[in-house]
Amino acid sequence: MELQEYKCEVLIIGAGPAGLSSAVYCGRANRNTIVLEGKELSSLAKTQEIQNWLGEIDATGLGLLDKFKKHAESYESVKIISGDVIELMLGMGTNVISTRTANITADVVVIATGTGKRKEVIKGEDILLGYGVSYGAIWDGPSYKNKVVYLYGKDEEVMEDALVLKQMGCIVRVITDVGIEELPENVNEVRNTGIEIIEKMEIIEAVPASNGMIQKIICKSTESQSGDIEIIKEFELSCLFIISHISSNSIFKKAGVELDDTRNIKVDSEQKTNIEGIYAAGDCTGGLFQVVFAAAEGARAGINACKYLRQLRKE
Ligand SMILES: Cc1cc2nc3c(=O)[nH]c(=O)nc-3n(C[C@H](O)[C@H](O)[C@H](O)COP(=O)(O)OP(=O)(O)OC[C@H]3O[C@@H](n4cnc5c(N)ncnc54)[C@H](O)[C@@H]3O)c2cc1C
Repeated sequence: MELQEYKCEVLIIGAGPAGLSSAVYCGRANRNTIVLEGKELSSLAKTQEIQNWLGEIDATGLGLLDKFKKHAESYESVKIISGDVIELMLGMGTNVISTRTANITADVVVIATGTGKRKEVIKGEDILLGYGVSYGAIWDGPSYKNKVVYLYGKDEEVMEDALVLKQMGCIVRVITDVGIEELPENVNEVRNTGIEIIEKMEIIEAVPASNGMIQKIICKSTESQSGDIEIIKEFELSCLFIISHISSNSIFKKAGVELDDTRNIKVDSEQKTNIEGIYAAGDCTGGLFQVVFAAAEGARAGINACKYLRQLRKE
């Protein structure tokens, strides 16, 4: 898999109303801007009908989002690329943000990732992130050579990562909540290498050992059982690679971004986080969870990100 390298002035993580509104302001200021669009759909794309966006009486969520995207992309200096952030190094002069297939270096970052699947999908995931729970097989895999690792998910990326981890010398198992017949075609390649696939199992908890590292996962069968019987299984492991979802805000917290008591990203009246040069806007900061507020906060983050760049470069 080829790793792409990008360098930009402003990286906007998220292509919903907040991120795209930010991009419009960065584009107008002619700043070299990358917008990263994750796998998870923008909440706006999940909205059938929007009746409270000024000037649009019967807009659909997807229709409005498409207009926002076209507007942002109309600036030559703005580029939208796909990928989920899985690792960040923030606030040391330059910021380095990694996805599965790219490294992006940016002077300023605007986080606009929405609420996504805010709930911690697996109990224990949040505290074990970086301690045997990882979202990036390609990045963390080499640390687990000759160790037992599990990949959790059901898409093509899971199968690709299983092969990559095996090549890195890990003892790989895939765990998935669906049946093998529902997995993508490249599952056959994975099975041919002898990687075990544990099907129809949902991970419900990741459990730490006394040293704080992951020790085991507890799983529940997704197959309906007769009566009220639940089939529970436990597996010991050195690392759990979660490819099925990325828990919003946990990765930012791990990178030093302060969250509030309700796990929203803490910002000041200029959308600044606690780290210099890192801004946040929209649903990921809490608030009213409305398109108009997300767009307004995105605009404010974009304006202040550009102001920060001017001051930084004494322009
Ligand atoms: C069913 C429903 C109905 C709604 N109805 C209305 C309504 O009628 N009126 C109204 O005003 N509001 C409504 N809302 C709320 C509105 O959609 C949100 O407030 C708004 O979309 C928030 O914008 P945002 O940019 O903050 O986040 P989102 O629109 O959620 O965008 C988040 C972006 O971040 C990306 N992302 C997430 N994680 C990562 C990652 N790790 N790496 C890279 N990218 C990532 C996602 O791919 C996405 O592009 C509704 C929401 C829902 C769910």
